[in-house]
Amino acid sequence: MFRTTMEAAQVGIFVLQDQHFKYVNPYLTRLFGYSADEMVDRMGPLDVVAAGQHAFIVEQMQARAAGVSGHHYEITAIRKNGSEFPAMIYGSPSVFDGRPASVGTLLDISSQKAAEQRIRELADYDVLTGLPNRRLLRERFVQLLAAAERDKTEIAVFFLDLDHFKRVNDSLGHSVGDELLVEVARRLDTVVRRIDTVARLGGDEFIFAMPGFHTAAAAEVARRLIDVFARPFEVAGHELTVTPSLGISIYPHDGQDLETLLKNADTAMYRAKEIGRNTFQFYATEMNTATLDRLLMESNLRRALVQKEFILQYQPLVNLRTGVIVGVEALIRWQHPELGTIMPDSFIHVAEETGLINPIGDWVLCEACRQAKAWCDEGLPSLVMAVNVAPVQFRQPGFVEMVAGALAASGLEASLLELELTERTVMHDADINLGTLSALHRMGVELSLDDFGTGYSSLAYLKRFPVGKLKIDRSFVNDLETDPDDWAIASTIVSMGRSLRMTVLAEGVETGEQLVQLRKMGCDMAQGYYFSRPTSAAGMAEILRAQPFVNR
Ligand code: C2E
Ligand code: CA
Ligand code: CA
Repeated sequence: MFRTTMEAAQVGIFVLQDQHFKYVNPYLTRLFGYSADEMVDRMGPLDVVAAGQHAFIVEQMQARAAGVSGHHYEITAIRKNGSEFPAMIYGSPSVFDGRPASVGTLLDISSQKAAEQRIRELADYDVLTGLPNRRLLRERFVQLLAAAERDKTEIAVFFLDLDHFKRVNDSLGHSVGDELLVEVARRLDTVVRRIDTVARLGGDEFIFAMPGFHTAAAAEVARRLIDVFARPFEVAGHELTVTPSLGISIYPHDGQDLETLLKNADTAMYRAKEIGRNTFQFYATEMNTATLDRLLMESNLRRALVQKEFILQYQPLVNLRTGVIVGVEALIRWQHPELGTIMPDSFIHVAEETGLINPIGDWVLCEACRQAKAWCDEGLPSLVMAVNVAPVQFRQPGFVEMVAGALAASGLEASLLELELTERTVMHDADINLGTLSALHRMGVELSLDDFGTGYSSLAYLKRFPVGKLKIDRSFVNDLETDPDDWAIASTIVSMGRSLRMTVLAEGVETGEQLVQLRKMGCDMAQGYYFSRPTSAAGMAEILRAQPFVNR
């Protein structure tokens, strides 16, 4: 009767002794895919349980052998074919052949587990698209906020709404609309990173929470999201074209919690719809113009570099004692095919913020060195070529090597190259920069401090740097004759420079009277429209040839 009962039982039953199976019922053998002969005396629990749980199983077997009764345990069971299933086991101490043993039952709980999983999903995920729902979004956002607060980083919240989605539903039916949403969700998911959350709030509204995104990066992601809709969606035999409208709010700028950020992103999304759909808007309106201009400029700048739209102009640097041009400053211009010549003040800051200043600056350096050498080879007198270096560029690794490369490629003597750095470039991380400055100095390259007087240089620091020249910012030169403060600043810089044995150059000299004043102060050099505006390489060569001592 016992045997019949065991064999009919719809639960796995086994007897264990000395860590081996002594009896297994047919239900158990069917569950694992072994025959009873294969299991009995030959196998033990360790052969059918995932390796990670072996220590636990051994512990349990020892407890049973010692007469301690067990509980229900969940394990990962392994079938003969290697596949796994979750199982619940229960063992109790027993006696077999007069020695301690244990009797166990085992239940396959796969369907129970699947049901639990489904319940969890239903609570956290959108049933249609499988994306997180509002509840899970809120839960994850709490963690994002904590991290952002701690790291002082930003979070971009996007509100994406499909344009005219209702038309799809109305004309093709809800099941087509649903399928479209599933496809949209699938494509959206490809744009985001693992740490981002894409959620569906219901209807045709999708939310993105993206940590670590400042405005420019968020605008770029918005573009990518819009691009996702460029190809039509194939749904139920239809080719459907839908476009999105996006609103973006940024933590902490536009709100401190999810509800506020969502509300503001929603407001921005409606603005995107108003201005014509298939676009995005930031909640903070000032960000819209700023970033759009910038994006435009950035992609344009990239193209400009490839298509060689940059040129250099040159402006003479004049020795005030002799009146001779002893150097030129290279100044970049952008010859835009439609907009004409764009001056550096309009694009250098974008280039700096986007890192494009590095390739642009490299080009300037190489081109300026090449031109200087070409003038030497034409027999023009030796000139110092002054090149502006942006802070980012100066701090990029390998800058010194880059300069050495430009000199080597052109064959220009190092002493004929002068790098113009601003006070801020040099003073920021003064200790680190000292290394770069010294390396350049050892190479023989001249260094000058540009826009001097506008920064925060301390004299004590200045003395440590191998800088040979100070360029008085043109704002002080401008009102030299009328503003006694500016006169005082300019003359202080001149005498300070002298006591540090530096050359002092005045920028932006436009009138003869300014020149008289500067000469009185004992200023060494000057530059400005009074002598010449920045001009092309050919124009500059003309000016140089016309210099008295060249003709002599
Ligand atoms: P900066 O280094 O102070 O260059 C001098 C600027 O003053 C030039 O403006 C020049 O045209 C202008 N200037 C010269 N003489 C006079 C004058 O008598 N009166 C007036 N009002 N202005 C005068 P530009 O060419 O527009 O360049 C502006 C700034 O852009 C430069 O200021 C420099 O900071 C930056 N820049 C120019 N070229 C480059 C470059 O190749 N790389 C980098 N990183 N920055 C550059
Ligand atoms: Ca300069
Ligand atoms: Ca300057």
